Amino acid sequence: MSDLVDAEELRQSEERYALAARGANDGLWDWKLQTNEIYFSERWKQMLGFEDHELPNVVQSWLGRVHPDDLPVLQAQMQLHLEGQTPHFECEYRILEQGGTYRWMLGRAMAVRNIDNVAYRIAGSQTDITERKLAVEELLQAAFHDSLTGLPNRMLFMDRLTGAANRAKRKDYQIAVLFIDLDRFKMINDTMGHEMGDAVLVEIGRRLEGCVRPGDTVARLGSTVARLGGDEFTVLVERISDVADAVRIASRILEVVKQPLLVDGQEVMTTASIGVATSTTGFERPEDLLRDADAAMYRAKKMGKARYEVCDRQMHEHALERLHIERDLHGVIDRDELRVVYQPVVALADEKVIGFEALIRWEHPTRGTLNPDDFITIAESANLIHPITLWTMGRALRQLQQLREDENARELTMSVNVSGRDFGYADFVEELTSALQARSIDASAIKLDITEAAIIRNAETAGRVMGELAGQNIRFTLDDFGTGYSSFANLLRYPIDTLKIDRSFTAHINEPEGLRAVQMMVTMARVLGMTAVAEGIETRDQLEALRLLNCPLGQGYLFSKPLPGEEIAALL
Ligand code: C2E
Ligand code: MG
Repeated sequence: MSDLVDAEELRQSEERYALAARGANDGLWDWKLQTNEIYFSERWKQMLGFEDHELPNVVQSWLGRVHPDDLPVLQAQMQLHLEGQTPHFECEYRILEQGGTYRWMLGRAMAVRNIDNVAYRIAGSQTDITERKLAVEELLQAAFHDSLTGLPNRMLFMDRLTGAANRAKRKDYQIAVLFIDLDRFKMINDTMGHEMGDAVLVEIGRRLEGCVRPGDTVARLGSTVARLGGDEFTVLVERISDVADAVRIASRILEVVKQPLLVDGQEVMTTASIGVATSTTGFERPEDLLRDADAAMYRAKKMGKARYEVCDRQMHEHALERLHIERDLHGVIDRDELRVVYQPVVALADEKVIGFEALIRWEHPTRGTLNPDDFITIAESANLIHPITLWTMGRALRQLQQLREDENARELTMSVNVSGRDFGYADFVEELTSALQARSIDASAIKLDITEAAIIRNAETAGRVMGELAGQNIRFTLDDFGTGYSSFANLLRYPIDTLKIDRSFTAHINEPEGLRAVQMMVTMARVLGMTAVAEGIETRDQLEALRLLNCPLGQGYLFSKPLPGEEIAALL
């Protein structure tokens, strides 16, 4: 009697389950383990595009269609559950449908066990989760890929790099990172338009992938091509045996990138500069490899572009050093480690001091006193320069205000070096004028020293901001004049008041060639209504030569080295 009730209850519960499953659109299966008989519901077969009679009720109809990559996981999950190690079976897998494509399924099941807890039957359901999987894949694609080229983005690249770097640390396993930057891409963008630029990036991305395509040795090594942004691409190569493997790939990339591109019927030429870093040099964190490759890429650019450079130990140390300096630069103002020293600018005719140039120093807690050449470019590239400029300006103006209290010193000027980066700050003009007001100093008393390279590199913003500042009566000195690469005609577009003759010319003024060069610069300044100031005067002979050329102003160790603020009043 109770058996009958149980059977009835069981039948009803099975019916309920079948109804629920049909409502949920799931397929059902039931597998008798001892006889290996298996039953698939009509719906189960429909999900794969088959009529009931088209697919035999054999295990192979299921497992034989599961994607080979997913089968081992499915079998392992099944085994675990049958052994009683999991409360139920659950597994996501791809299965081949009649049309020859794979659909994603979620399988769920539970075993029925005998008194000894041995499973003799397992039954479960299959839910189609293709849509959800695709949606997730789309999300992942968007989050981890560059929308223009479809390549992995920086995030995914760093993820892969981290994985590879960890493997490289554990095993006898070397990896390489290639940093690729297109040469003259900005020019393509500017002269041919952004659409053309985009098309070039897509094509370059495709070519880079071509360099690491399956079938190649590289594919055996394992690789990832990514776009970090702009015209910067990276390639991660795993399992290299030595640097030569990485170099081979770099040469191949150089070759394919320089093949002419045909975009919209137009031929575009470009080249790449590549930096190579390998784990053979040793590294602490994965990002160190990327940084080393980046540093090597910069060297490739410097050495003339369209080439690769390998990060060697020396470069690695150098990059590391820069990194440490950059780290220490954070908070350098709050820790009060910066100082300003002042070098007099003198009228060459009578050697009277007419002003000063403010030059920064860093009292580094462990490295001692650092000169600007050791940290200014690092501060610039890490975007830390602007507060430093403003701080220096503040100190220099305070110094000037103090000096000017002496009535014989009312006309003194103060030169402060600014970086091209400073022009990028919308408030720069406002910051400067309010600093001047705070000290009641007339704008004409300060001069901003800017290098030719800084102007050219920031041509647009530099022109605008310099124009605004000149409108406020602030004057500009072109620093390092003659050492740059731009045409002088180009520089005439900027409001420049003073030309500073670089000390490399002053150093050779007592030779005929050098004399002629300086003479030309002094004349040019005079003709253009600018003032000339010669830098780096170290000897009397140099001073005499400059006097003969009627160069009005100069600075140099002959008059004074840069001195701390307390010591300069004595020079007046
Ligand atoms: P600069 O503006 O051309 O400054 C002149 C450099 O020549 C200074 O080096 C100065 O100490 C050095 N010098 C002066 N007289 C002589 C001489 O007779 N012989 C020789 N051999 N050298 C002489 P310093 O102070 O190391 O500055 C280097 C550069 O760093 C400066 O070149 C300037 O471009 C930059 N700089 C200095 N202070 C700042 C700053 O506050 N902000 C920014 N952005 N750059 C700065
Ligand atoms: Mg200067």
